Amino acid sequence: MAAPDYRPLVLRKGEERRIRAGHLWVFSNEVDVARTPLTALSPGEPVLLLDHAGKRLGSGYANPSTLIAARLVDRAGGALDAALFARRLEAALALRTRRYATPHYRLVFGESDGLPGLTVERFGDVVVAQATTAGMERLREVATGALLSALAPSALLWKNDSSARKAEGLPESVELVHGTLDGPAIAREGGLEFLCDLREGQKTGWFYDQRDNRDRLAPWVKGARVLDVFSYLGGWGLRAAELGATEVECVDVSARAVEGIRANIAHNGLGDRATATVADAFDFLRDARHARRRWDVVVLDPPAFVKRRKDFKEGALAYRRLNEAGLQVLEPGGLLVTCSCSHHMPRADLVAGLQAAARAQDRFVQLLEPMTQSADHPVHPAIPETEYLKGVLARVLPA
Ligand code: SAH
Repeated sequence: MAAPDYRPLVLRKGEERRIRAGHLWVFSNEVDVARTPLTALSPGEPVLLLDHAGKRLGSGYANPSTLIAARLVDRAGGALDAALFARRLEAALALRTRRYATPHYRLVFGESDGLPGLTVERFGDVVVAQATTAGMERLREVATGALLSALAPSALLWKNDSSARKAEGLPESVELVHGTLDGPAIAREGGLEFLCDLREGQKTGWFYDQRDNRDRLAPWVKGARVLDVFSYLGGWGLRAAELGATEVECVDVSARAVEGIRANIAHNGLGDRATATVADAFDFLRDARHARRRWDVVVLDPPAFVKRRKDFKEGALAYRRLNEAGLQVLEPGGLLVTCSCSHHMPRADLVAGLQAAARAQDRFVQLLEPMTQSADHPVHPAIPETEYLKGVLARVLPA
């Protein structure tokens, strides 16, 4: 394969070690800027990464104005072109079709699928993509072409409105580049269909990362009364209803989300079992405790409370408080599902907070099943940042 004529980016001595160990990121202080000034590059420009001795590490793309100055895309050093995207998509597709029966999943999880800065999700015929880096933004046309030929979707929406784009100097935009998209798309889980508003919805429309965990509710919720807090469009609660729960209440602070939950309750014929309430989670749990309401199963799946490492202390306290409030509305012997999608909140700290909450409430907690992100969000073993979702299913008894 002919090497592309990308400009070189030389690393300082020894700084190739992490890349050689499998990581894909080059931080700005690792670049030998005397030899290859970052300022000479434009945002997202493709580059050839070289170690200090001039040995090739591979091809990737750079951004001179972000802390992550470059991301490796291809260790073989080939062009960032349609053929590369086709290969990566084929590998990504093989994993998902092996694991999931229908095309409803995250197809591309950035670095973990060899396409840094790209997220792709499938809602049957409808595809949503998101570029979070200047490098991927520059490759958007190539990515679009590769997605259209690999998937032949009825619609392809670029939902480029993630907050990560700001740091990369990219504008927000939501753009349908192929087909038509009228009304909601459908995320299929278990036997249910969840209607998702892809243009206005949160993130890329649906939280597929919890699907494998929701599947695991099956043996635990028969005949149960279930509370699903931070419900978004009803994922946990309605799956529980499908799997045999007799009474389900979903809570979310967003009125738009709760409208969505109600639509999903109706769409799936669960009106006899499920309801949805607009409320702040902490207020709702406090009021429920005062009203002596109790549930057999409580699911706590909040947004990230620890967005940056420096928010750890405050965020960890929020998780602990939330868990304490959850314990207080559980029947004795009830089950708690508690999650964190913060990379900077390690599992051990989530569990420690749960245990502290249990002691404060004089409860005894048994951890039954650890939970992690679903298989369509693979973890890259050399990139800890790709592992972010953790949760646990626990039984809670009086002390
Ligand atoms: N459990 C959902 C995903 C949750 S995303 C699923 O499995 O699909 C986080 C949700 O929490 C969002 O829908 C957001 O609107 C909601 N949220 C954020 N802050 C909240 C608060 N203080 N009280 C209740 N809901 C909140």
